[in-house]
Amino acid sequence: MTSMPNLLSSAEISHSLEKTDIVMLLQEDEMNEALYEAADRVRKAYVGDEVYLQVLIGVSSICHQNCMHCSLRRDNSIVKRYRLEAERVLELVKKAGADGCKTVVLQSGEDKYYTVEKLQDTIYKVKNMDISVTLSIGERTREEYQAFKEAGADRFLLPIETTDKKLYDVLNPGMSFLNRLRCLKDLKEMGYEVGSGCVVGLPNQSLTSLAEDMLFFKEFAAETVVIEPFIPCNNTPLFCGNGGAFTLSRKLMAIARLLLPNANIPVTNIMAVQDFAGEFKALQSGANVVMSNVAE
Ligand code: SF4
Repeated sequence: MTSMPNLLSSAEISHSLEKTDIVMLLQEDEMNEALYEAADRVRKAYVGDEVYLQVLIGVSSICHQNCMHCSLRRDNSIVKRYRLEAERVLELVKKAGADGCKTVVLQSGEDKYYTVEKLQDTIYKVKNMDISVTLSIGERTREEYQAFKEAGADRFLLPIETTDKKLYDVLNPGMSFLNRLRCLKDLKEMGYEVGSGCVVGLPNQSLTSLAEDMLFFKEFAAETVVIEPFIPCNNTPLFCGNGGAFTLSRKLMAIARLLLPNANIPVTNIMAVQDFAGEFKALQSGANVVMSNVAE
């Protein structure tokens, strides 16, 4: 059996880890600092010291899906619902550009209001401002993804959330794990830079399942990996459950960096919910992007 220090130095060079090794790193805490330091060295060597800023514009908080863990689920009657018209989206993009931002993430729940025509026009106008576009708008048909690509979209972010199909089916009633995989495959084949991600600390989620998430990102060659702790949201079926642990999420970010040295690994503001210095600590553990929300 490989000792943990040897395991880390070997992973730092080979960028591979066995599932059992990942589980061991997640289980034990005595090597946490060494894990963070190894990921920090890999981050520095492969993607440098620059921290990239991505502005995330919440285009719509309306979603026809009903995922158990999400505040935007359609049965959540107390969440503030809104939709931004294209003019408002473009104003926010312009402001982000003026502040030096080179890429924006247009994010929404699964909201069919944004037809291909509406989104194509917005994407085209953002690209004319010389700003890259990442879409995070959920599951669409292959033809729709193709139309967004033709309008100029550069990247697509579609979290798998969990690679445990059973857990996925429980958390996302009415959705299909296989369709999620189909979407990711379509996006990759079309030449998008594809990002995915997982939620950490979901009910009945095992360390083995999280290790499998990491190996999935590696095999899929995800260009962005978003790892976020689960935060129970008010007025959702999982509100009374435990949230995901900050340290576990930080360790997973570090493991993702060891496995995918060139990937973008963003820190979202959820990392600061449990730890005031969470974003800063994540940037010292393999992350290289700060994703900042623009609230409406
Ligand atoms: S599809 Fe996405 S935004 Fe909609 S309820 Fe599920 S997790 Fe939330």
